[in-house]
Amino acid sequence: MSIREIKKFNDFLLYQKTKPVEKVTAEIETLIRDMKDTIMVNKGIGLAANQIGVPLKAIILDLESRNREGDILPGSKGNRFLVLFNPKIITRRGKQIIEEGCLSFPGIYLKIRRSRWVKVTGMNEKGKLLDIEAEGILATVFQHEIDHLEGKVFIDRLPLWKRWKIWRQIRRILIKTDKIQDSDR
Ligand SMILES: [Zn+2]
Repeated sequence: MSIREIKKFNDFLLYQKTKPVEKVTAEIETLIRDMKDTIMVNKGIGLAANQIGVPLKAIILDLESRNREGDILPGSKGNRFLVLFNPKIITRRGKQIIEEGCLSFPGIYLKIRRSRWVKVTGMNEKGKLLDIEAEGILATVFQHEIDHLEGKVFIDRLPLWKRWKIWRQIRRILIKTDKIQDSDR
């Protein structure tokens, strides 16, 4: 069991684009095992590889995890984890606003407007190409994680004035935890 440190707030790795996974090698298998351990211990719903410092297009969803409202993701079919490499949204429909959290932004919950239904394509752990249709909270989780792989975080989905407010709040958290100096204030 190997739990990796989650990159947080202003870590530059959260804001960089990631590279495609060409093949499921032993190295990639280790990465996925670590992502499973890390998401479980942190009780996350979704995790992108760059959140643990690996700039590759890999995401994992814990289908047994619940959000703050206690909603559970549908469609687990006995598999607890859904792993997807190079995920891409190929169709989207409708709009919805759901409150989101992020393991890279502990304590911050934001209502984000996203598509209500998406069709995602990607490669699974066995190297097989999949099409997945998702709606509701599952659709939001996919969009949130795929954003991570593009170097985007959920704050970037807010209007500019709201983004300012959230970043000021984060600055206060970072000062309090000595992650940035008082003199930078
Ligand atoms: Zn996130």
